[in-house]
Amino acid sequence: MTATRLVAHRVKKVWGRRDLPPAFGSVPDDAEPIGEIHFEDPRGGGPELLVKYLFTAERLSIQVHPDDEAAHALGHPRGKDEAWFVLSAEPDAEIGIGLRQVVAKEELRAAALDGRIENMVDWRSVAAGDSYYSPAGTVHAIGPGLALIEVQQNLDLTYRLYDYGRPRELHLDAAIEVADAAPYQAPLEPYRIDTREILADGPAFVLERWRGPCSGRVEAEPSRAVWIIPMSGSGTIDGQPLEAGSVWLVEGSADLSVGAGTDMLVSYPGRGVRNFDAIRFDATPAPIQRRLYRDAAPRRAN
Ligand SMILES: [Zn+2]
Repeated sequence: MTATRLVAHRVKKVWGRRDLPPAFGSVPDDAEPIGEIHFEDPRGGGPELLVKYLFTAERLSIQVHPDDEAAHALGHPRGKDEAWFVLSAEPDAEIGIGLRQVVAKEELRAAALDGRIENMVDWRSVAAGDSYYSPAGTVHAIGPGLALIEVQQNLDLTYRLYDYGRPRELHLDAAIEVADAAPYQAPLEPYRIDTREILADGPAFVLERWRGPCSGRVEAEPSRAVWIIPMSGSGTIDGQPLEAGSVWLVEGSADLSVGAGTDMLVSYPGRGVRNFDAIRFDATPAPIQRRLYRDAAPRRAN
């Protein structure tokens, strides 16, 4: 058996929520809110990708992550690209990604210090089904009112540029060094291969959305394990129940069978969308829900 069910770890965060999706149970009113649930390999080790659910009731810091090269120079195994898939969003929910215009690094630093950076960031209104791939170096921030799945390179290194006056440490020198002080450009226009929706194709990993029914064998390539992230519906993987809220890591190969109404993310490291010839996809293609290039939301009053 080569499908490993990853173990969920709930992390309390001041910016988190108590109204989690049913798969994760409820959080009592007097308990600290849950900000993220991340999924780890029970055998240990540090696989290339990390999957998290994020639940936000407040803004997360404006931040940036190093790329592979900058991370290697500090002795880390890899940098950090991230991708988000929005599960639910309150009507005014926003993600900040990139800057509204190119600015000099000194200007970005000054704006981070006096708070003007908040209006430099390109805030975009988001809705369920939206996805973004945020390459390392992209200045970004997740706003409140969101539940989303974050797939990322497995590196715990965040440089905070601005934290809305909260007392957490900033990392301005490192952040300015690695930040791309420019507007965001999506690396890929999502497209479809049969019923597979290709949401991102590198640089660091591929992100796909599969909607059931589909069945067959998931055959991972030797250096590209496959993460399977069911969001709704159900099925089996190597005979084990595959339900929303679980996350699976396939090395080698695994039998997969999911019914109609199943909606999953599938991710694997590297660039280059691969074939899954041993899987039969039966669904009638649904229209791609994609709003990557929506106009930015009206700027909030400050
Ligand atoms: Zn981040």
